[in-house]
Amino acid sequence: MRKNYLLTPGPTPLPPEVCEAQARPIIHHRTPQFQSVLKEVEEGLKYVFQTANDVFILTSSGTGAMEAAVVNLLSPGEAAITIQGGKFGERWTDICNSYGIKPEAIDVEWGKAVDPQEIQKKLKANPKIKAVFATLCETSTGVTNDIEKLGQVVKDSSAVLVVDAISGLGAIDLKTDAWSVDMCVSGSQKGLMLPPGLAFISTSKKAWALVLESKSPKYYFDLKEAKKALDKTDTAYTPAISLVMALNESLKMMRQDGMENIFSRHKKMADATRSAALALGLELFAPTAASDVVTSVKVPAGIDGEKLVKTMRDAYAVTIAGGQSELKGKVFRIAHMGYIEEFDIIVGIACLEKVLAQMGYKFNIGAGLRAAQEVFLK
Ligand SMILES: *Cc1c(COP(=O)(O)O)cnc(C)c1O
Repeated sequence: MRKNYLLTPGPTPLPPEVCEAQARPIIHHRTPQFQSVLKEVEEGLKYVFQTANDVFILTSSGTGAMEAAVVNLLSPGEAAITIQGGKFGERWTDICNSYGIKPEAIDVEWGKAVDPQEIQKKLKANPKIKAVFATLCETSTGVTNDIEKLGQVVKDSSAVLVVDAISGLGAIDLKTDAWSVDMCVSGSQKGLMLPPGLAFISTSKKAWALVLESKSPKYYFDLKEAKKALDKTDTAYTPAISLVMALNESLKMMRQDGMENIFSRHKKMADATRSAALALGLELFAPTAASDVVTSVKVPAGIDGEKLVKTMRDAYAVTIAGGQSELKGKVFRIAHMGYIEEFDIIVGIACLEKVLAQMGYKFNIGAGLRAAQEVFLK
């Protein structure tokens, strides 16, 4: 027998209410029943996105909504800033390049957050820049960027601010409207506690003006079609009906909890995880801008990082994430996002201690668990 624990930064575990909703018999999407679900879902999304603007639902993984943002805002030959401090920031650059948009890529050292002043300088130096593509939580490094400050910087320029909040939305604070985020992009399988397959995108008035001008080729992800449908509480194409039913349940759970409680739960789990890592004599990869949705920890000298993650998964069914790209084997990442609470973190740390001990790493057994308990007891 195996009892699985999923502590990865996407997909994240599913609440039973979500599993149940997904398993219901399918209904047709052009019906009053589905329309009433869509109506509730739209309200719930606005609550979680903290926006009064439209939030479009796309059937794709999160990257689909990133691509939708690029092709709906810009035209070939136009200029944009992409902030890359990890694998996901680089994705903005790659998508822009795929559509003939000229990205000015800002390289941020992996493990650090972007300095909003650097973006301000770039915007002043090049008034032709039409969009700034940023990342809320750079999942590959475990960094949270200061979106509020970025919003202040971009707001007064003619550019729009687009934020990849695929990781972090519904787990840490992101005030789409109050922070002047023009497009907020997210996906279903992280903070929203759903299986992969849905993506979301919000649009401000400033962003919509660009959408109406954009000449990039697009069909499935044309937001003008999505808008026409949404205005009639409909979707342009067949939606992932079961996932939307499940979304309705997860959004209800989130409204019941309240965003403030959700944010403080995530913060506490992150504090406990960081505290445990330090108590084990480990080093955090991103100590100055550590994210509250995923903690990345440096693999200690003499330990095979990939083997550590594999052993936790294959021997004990506790799945955490290893490092990506240039961080492969150098860090491991423990997610504390979505349907996760303190005792899941305790399990994760217990398993980490067990495997570290088996691999010959020297520390006081239980030191990490004690540190985590102390945070949770506060
Ligand atoms: C997971 C993730 C993505 C990719 O989303 P997919 O659903 O795999 O397309 C993009 N950006 C960030 C920050 C992520 O964490």
